[in-house]
Amino acid sequence: MSDIGERLAQVRARITAAARRVGRDPAAITLVAVSKTVPPHHIKDAVAAGVAVLGENRVQEAQDKIRALGRVAQWHLVGHLQTNKAKLAVQLFDMIHSLDSIRLARELDRHAAALGKRMPCLVEVNQGGELTKSGLTEPDVLPFLEEAAALPNLEIVGLMSVPPYCENPEDVRPYFQILRALRSAAAAEALPGVRMEHLSMGMSHDFEVAIEEGATMVRIGTAIFGPRPSP
Ligand SMILES: *Cc1c(COP(=O)(O)O)cnc(C)c1O
Repeated sequence: MSDIGERLAQVRARITAAARRVGRDPAAITLVAVSKTVPPHHIKDAVAAGVAVLGENRVQEAQDKIRALGRVAQWHLVGHLQTNKAKLAVQLFDMIHSLDSIRLARELDRHAAALGKRMPCLVEVNQGGELTKSGLTEPDVLPFLEEAAALPNLEIVGLMSVPPYCENPEDVRPYFQILRALRSAAAAEALPGVRMEHLSMGMSHDFEVAIEEGATMVRIGTAIFGPRPSP
């Protein structure tokens, strides 16, 4: 087995163990293998080892890889999306994890309408107030959802967050708990066109804690593909 196959098997075992610790069904957790900067031949190994969802953070890079590999898995956008790339993003991706403004929502809706597609999206929440990160602040999420719910070609299916990095993954737990509470609050509004099904949270460093706190999608890069070249 390749390194990627072995690391993937380890990640899967850890996902299963974390789910079982809290009485959750491991099958209810989708592994998004974050393949940014990873060359296509390594992505192929991951797909051969059973990866069904790939995550990319740049539209252009994803387009090149989709051209090279095809639709061998679902492709999710996990990184920030500029409004001027909305059309291409609607064409390329099966899900967008980074919906973070009403302006972007309107653009996505417009292009999805033109393409006859309903675009599944997660609303990105900026939990740490870090200015370098995108996402809505927590108090902005419910008002945003009320506005975005009126857009007929968007299918809002949950929330996503990249909490501040903490050396000890236990320190990230409160952020995951807050995101889950926010999802419950949003679900209670029962907005048409909004399904609060997913919590996209947890990365290589902290995915087990995220699963214990209810993550339905974990976005894992380095634990599968190894360290990325530093930018
Ligand atoms: C890179 C990235 C990940 C994966 O990070 P790892 O620490 O390598 O697992 C997850 N989510 C987003 C939004 C990313 O940009």
